[in-house]
Amino acid sequence: MRIYADNAATTKMSRAAIDAMLPYFEEIYGNPSSLYSIGQTAKEALEEARKTVAGAIGAAPAEIIFTSGGSEADNQALISAAALGKKAGKTHIISDKIEHHAVLHTLRRLEKEGFEVTLLDVGEDGIVDPADVENAIREDTCLVTIMYANNEIGTVQPIRRIGEICRKHGVKFHTDAVQAVGHLPIDVNADNVDLLSGSAHKFHGPKGVGFLYAKKGIRLTNLIDGGAQERGKRAGTENVAGVVGMAAALREAVDRMPENTAKLTALRDRLIEGLSQIPHCALNGDRENRLPSNVSFCFEGIEGESLLLCLDDKGISASSGSACTSGSLDPSHVLLAIGRVHDVAHGSLRLTLGEDADEAQVDYIIAAVKDVVEYLRGFSPVWRDLCAGKSRFIL
Ligand SMILES: *Cc1c(COP(=O)(O)O)cnc(C)c1O
Repeated sequence: MRIYADNAATTKMSRAAIDAMLPYFEEIYGNPSSLYSIGQTAKEALEEARKTVAGAIGAAPAEIIFTSGGSEADNQALISAAALGKKAGKTHIISDKIEHHAVLHTLRRLEKEGFEVTLLDVGEDGIVDPADVENAIREDTCLVTIMYANNEIGTVQPIRRIGEICRKHGVKFHTDAVQAVGHLPIDVNADNVDLLSGSAHKFHGPKGVGFLYAKKGIRLTNLIDGGAQERGKRAGTENVAGVVGMAAALREAVDRMPENTAKLTALRDRLIEGLSQIPHCALNGDRENRLPSNVSFCFEGIEGESLLLCLDDKGISASSGSACTSGSLDPSHVLLAIGRVHDVAHGSLRLTLGEDADEAQVDYIIAAVKDVVEYLRGFSPVWRDLCAGKSRFIL
């Protein structure tokens, strides 16, 4: 059996997205800035896609600019809000410790440029407390940036309440919604969001294309200078096929959301239930407020990497905290932020199910993880010391 259970890393493209894209490679390959018909037809497709993307999050088409993905959208959102803040003499930014590196590393860069950044703690449940956001807001705060849903532990943040607080205090609010778009219902107006990032390859669209929503009136800073594409805010000939594919994937994801959510939630809960039977393990992130597809565990006495390799041998593609995969030996900043100690954080496993998963696959995963954890613990010195009482179990 081959099971792809790493949908938070990327997703398989939907048939609808592939079919929608093909004509823009083969027939309608014109440059949208050209005046002849195959250029103008491409331009129309781009604007049609803008309407679809805007509609999926309750925005107006003029509030959407297309980017090369979630990372670029995060960078542009933060850099733009910081520039606006600086103009008004405000240089304080609030975020939290479990953001994606596209946000955290941009904040680090802004700190070097003189901005002051407050990174809020999250609870053991991986949720940001809106009261902490309100308490951190100062006279000179120009931006709050809190992700919609976390890519490692799947926790969904109280975005609407945080948005209300930001609105009340007149502070701009950005949310990295890359894990949420196409998976959770989003309404930028009801959520009081000023800036929002999305990425096609997380909802069965192509890689290398995404979008930034910026509320009307927010002036964006260009990251890429050149031509006047995207109202002068993002130069470069548009990725027409990519944008069309993103829109097709998003339309399908939104149409099927109720059905997919019900199905995935049931499978997720079955998987959590099954894995919880393994001794000395713990679920990462809140049990209720989590993405329908996300299951994240820590197992004591094993190495996440070994677990992944053994699971791969059994045909399962999974992930273990994103830091390990980047070749770094540091455990995931997200797991440390929810209070997992280093040793425990190293034994993490993230399984993110796709819409085509079924109960048989989930049961196969449960059996495989049980086997592999037992096998690896069999020759783990850390596990031996725990069992011999030389060190204490944490989980
Ligand atoms: C994947 C991801 C990103 C980066 O998106 P890319 O399109 O791969 O650049 C940013 N934030 C979160 C939460 C993500 O999951």
